[in-house]
Amino acid sequence: MSPIDRRTFVSMTTAATAASLAGASLGAGSAPVAQPGANPRPARAGDDHRCPCVISSGNGARTTAKAMDLIAAGTHPLDAIVEGTKIVEDDPSDMSVGLGGLPNEEGVVQLDASVMDGMLHRAGSVGSLENIKNPAAVALLVMRRTDHVMLVGPGALKFALRMGFKEENLLTDAAREAWLKWRGNLGRDDKWLNDDEREDLGQRKSGPRAEGSAAPRSSPHDARAGGPVIPDSTIPFTWGTIHTSAVTSTGHLAACTSTSGLSWKLPGRLGDSPIVGAGMYCDNAIGSAGATGRGEAVIQVCGAFSVVEHMDRGLSPTEACLAVLKRMADRTREKRLLDDKGRPNFNVTMYALRKDGAYGSASLWKGGSFAVHDGKENRVLESAWLFEK
Ligand code: ASP
Repeated sequence: MSPIDRRTFVSMTTAATAASLAGASLGAGSAPVAQPGANPRPARAGDDHRCPCVISSGNGARTTAKAMDLIAAGTHPLDAIVEGTKIVEDDPSDMSVGLGGLPNEEGVVQLDASVMDGMLHRAGSVGSLENIKNPAAVALLVMRRTDHVMLVGPGALKFALRMGFKEENLLTDAAREAWLKWRGNLGRDDKWLNDDEREDLGQRKSGPRAEGSAAPRSSPHDARAGGPVIPDSTIPFTWGTIHTSAVTSTGHLAACTSTSGLSWKLPGRLGDSPIVGAGMYCDNAIGSAGATGRGEAVIQVCGAFSVVEHMDRGLSPTEACLAVLKRMADRTREKRLLDDKGRPNFNVTMYALRKDGAYGSASLWKGGSFAVHDGKENRVLESAWLFEK
């Protein structure tokens, strides 16, 4: 699929829409979203695709491959994508999901996940789940074995144990080291030595600090702009998550999102991933969608639900993603979340799959990708985007 760049996007829209986009980049925030009817439909590889299909975030190529195999063998699409998601949840080298996920500010890994069956229109979700590496499978059982939609914290853990899941330490050495590095460099007025104060790292020990000489604090929002503004850029900061949507050849849709959330988050923080309608949503009558990236921004525009609603109004999957991201950019008004040109200083990627198998994805910032298995081929493609550096 060829990505849409900002110039192409603007040229494809009417003057009114272009003006609205300009408003977003200035942070004006009051402009309406792109008018679906006013947009010519840009050609997209995914527009013409038909069922079956599995799409996932860029880290989900193994997930799409596994899920498509299972769907081809007749497995329920939700079981298929939860099974495919396990591959990434079990992989300690993916530090944004499951085992090995980066922990919260106290060094504790807390996982979130949600699932939805488009045929039953039933969902399940878990939040702040500790010690269980497959939260998506737990969310699936919340959906199938209880009358509830969402379980969090100790209640979610108790439920998982009752369902036979085993507790294990999810904090890998690599994630613990990353947390220690972040914690150590967080501030100068705490009892942890910053890297430039540690003689064992070959640094000259700094003398007593003059008032106001503290190094700048790291900001997750700066990091999300595409480069951590932290003293040592080797400290990883992830905004990864895995979202997967699938549709079978008979039009049965399913969605699943799983994450360790924002690294260094406050304990108990829930992002969009476990929120039905934000991190994922699906409806057999229309389509399925999901999100990765700054969850707070996704929640505040009801991201996945909005993408599905835009598809219902006739937008293609890619256009629907762009329209929601456009709204997100328009509604981002706080200075701390904007760059010097008034554009969001964080990233979000949306993924969409229509009931007939058409698919697409878009990011706020160029550089996003998504995996897609179209029934024949499994590929990672570049997402469309609104803004480019
Ligand atoms: N959306 C997830 C969250 O906010 C994390 C991410 O994708 O960066 O928890």
